[in-house]
Amino acid sequence: SKTQVGFIGLGNMGKPMAKNLLKHGYPVIATDVFPESCKELQELGAQIVDNPAEVADQADRVVTMLPSSPNVIEVYTGPNGILKKVKKGSLLIDSSTIDPAVSKEMAVAAEKMGAVFMDAPVSGGVGAASSGKLTFMVGGVEEEFTAAQELLTCMGANVVYCGAVGTGQAAKICNNMLLAIGMIGTSETMNLGIRLGLDPKLLAKILNMSSGRCWSSDTYNPVPGVMEGVPSGNNYQGGFGTQLMAKDLGLAQTTATNTKTPVPLGSLAHQIYRMMCARGYSGKDFSSVFQFLQGA
Ligand code: NAD
Repeated sequence: SKTQVGFIGLGNMGKPMAKNLLKHGYPVIATDVFPESCKELQELGAQIVDNPAEVADQADRVVTMLPSSPNVIEVYTGPNGILKKVKKGSLLIDSSTIDPAVSKEMAVAAEKMGAVFMDAPVSGGVGAASSGKLTFMVGGVEEEFTAAQELLTCMGANVVYCGAVGTGQAAKICNNMLLAIGMIGTSETMNLGIRLGLDPKLLAKILNMSSGRCWSSDTYNPVPGVMEGVPSGNNYQGGFGTQLMAKDLGLAQTTATNTKTPVPLGSLAHQIYRMMCARGYSGKDFSSVFQFLQGA
């Protein structure tokens, strides 16, 4: 029978991911700072403990899915953190989207305790997390990749090895910067076309058979009524929050600054998403930039 897997951070993404581990027959031992988030998993048979140290005390493979860098630092190196009780030879996989510099620090700290840390951020939203169709971008020691893959394939359709620790984050941050730029571009284009008298559905159809086509125009169109089953059709509820997108664009800016890389459109996208957060859009899906531009 399979040995216990630890899971820390049972939020929008973490909960369905942990459920998929259970579905694949792995006993799960989990924790979250909000006891409420643990209830459903406990009912499904997971063991719930008080803090990350207790998870690491019992499981030699641990997955973390937390909001941002400070939470990851706390969960790994805090007073009740994983590294307080981690067993030698344990595999620690962080799927949060955070600063790659923090991933590298966590890897060094883990190594000092005889454990292995890998970054494995994901692409795909809550839907992909529930259906086990996430894409994992994995950074870390290559010899450990097979061990990580065994767990990650229970939660994802694609598990891609990217290179040394931090490179999974690098891939994720680059993707989301392009996603934000594409979403803003699609939104301002659709808004202009509508003001020029074009029917939004027709305009989207033309873009999608022309060179302006992109993911934001053909699978996640930001204009209400153009597509079914996307947040724009549901008052921008669910999906990927504007606040999380602003965070990821901030990470892209930090890494660009550190490497002296010009990213003018990424920088503008960051400012636009920050303005949206300041105007009450934080909790709405990031495609609500269409609504923001329309009202501006
Ligand atoms: P979330 O806020 O819904 O969940 C995070 C969970 O971590 C919460 O339940 C919170 O209570 C818990 N937590 C925070 N600090 C903790 C601590 N010290 N100890 C234990 N638990 C703690 O966030 P989410 O939407 O699940 O996203 C998680 C990560 O995945 C983020 O980095 C996000 O950028 C990334 N991501 C999200 C999506 C998406 O569509 N939501 C898609 C891809 C990647």
